[in-house]
Amino acid sequence: MIPLYYHEDYRKYSFGTLHPFDPVRFPRFRELLRGKEELKDVFEIKEAVEATHDDLSLVHTMNYINKVYKMEETGGRLSGDTPVKKGAPAAARRIVGGTIQAVIDASQGGSAVNLGGLHHAGKDYGEGFCLFNDVAIGAHYMVEKGKKVCIFDTDAHQGNGTMDIFYEDPRVLFVSLHQDPATLYPGKGYVHEIGKGGGSGYTINIPLPIDAKTSDYTYSIKEIVEPIVAEFSPDLIIRNGGSDPHYSDTLTDLGLDMCGMEYLGAVTKMMAEKNNSGHVELMLSGYGPRVIEGWLAILKGAFSLDIDLPSDKILSSPGELPGNKVDETIEEIKDMLNSYWKL
Ligand SMILES: [Zn+2]
Repeated sequence: MIPLYYHEDYRKYSFGTLHPFDPVRFPRFRELLRGKEELKDVFEIKEAVEATHDDLSLVHTMNYINKVYKMEETGGRLSGDTPVKKGAPAAARRIVGGTIQAVIDASQGGSAVNLGGLHHAGKDYGEGFCLFNDVAIGAHYMVEKGKKVCIFDTDAHQGNGTMDIFYEDPRVLFVSLHQDPATLYPGKGYVHEIGKGGGSGYTINIPLPIDAKTSDYTYSIKEIVEPIVAEFSPDLIIRNGGSDPHYSDTLTDLGLDMCGMEYLGAVTKMMAEKNNSGHVELMLSGYGPRVIEGWLAILKGAFSLDIDLPSDKILSSPGELPGNKVDETIEEIKDMLNSYWKL
């Protein structure tokens, strides 16, 4: 069975009632899984443990960790969109703990899932609804054990916190497909951001235009991601990102349908199998009516689940040619990276 980490305290990862991040997603997804008889023997729901301060300090400074806890007492915001509410730091630690456990499970050659993905928190900052960066902490945990990790970030928002943490580190390949940063927070993730020093070439940003479809993703992934991941040959692939690339998302403007969401899971599993890598799925994001359906579509792709895809309009099929000048972006990325990778 595939371990899927969860804890009822995940619902305490809250920013207040009027905030777009609604933590009711966590128990709702738990209920959705519980209601599917055909998944009873597929996922083993396991309780996430709370990460320790030592775990957090794998990537965050002590000053920053203390600041978050102090703010929980005094009230305040890490950034305009990220207030620190009572109970949220402990819930974030629980999410980090779930990701570490998933990474440990998958490092033994299998797969695991956590409802995580707080990729906007950096070493000494929090923003974009993210207090502690579980994605980076999970990756760092394995790097400490001498493993090579690929973080494949498919969230609609670029993973600026994760990118910053590993920007000079060649032990982690960070690949992100996201909405054009000129049109969406965090405004990072242009093609020329490729890492620095020893980490040059190990950060790969693929910005996609508004309304990018499944065929734009399949083309970008085939041309750039698959060959680089094969050459890097990671011990572990962590795919991060929930439902916000779906066209129904209320904060973003990408154009994936549910088939596209399924493809994101499926292509990750395919790369993990081809490269003999462990495989972790992290999903937490999504805004609007179809968040947990999108998560289920990703898991269907990742684990070939015998369930119907959530019904949806079909906006594009994987084999179509890319549109929206995506082919030009891909050529530009190849030019930036061809001295580092065989492209
Ligand atoms: Zn997002």
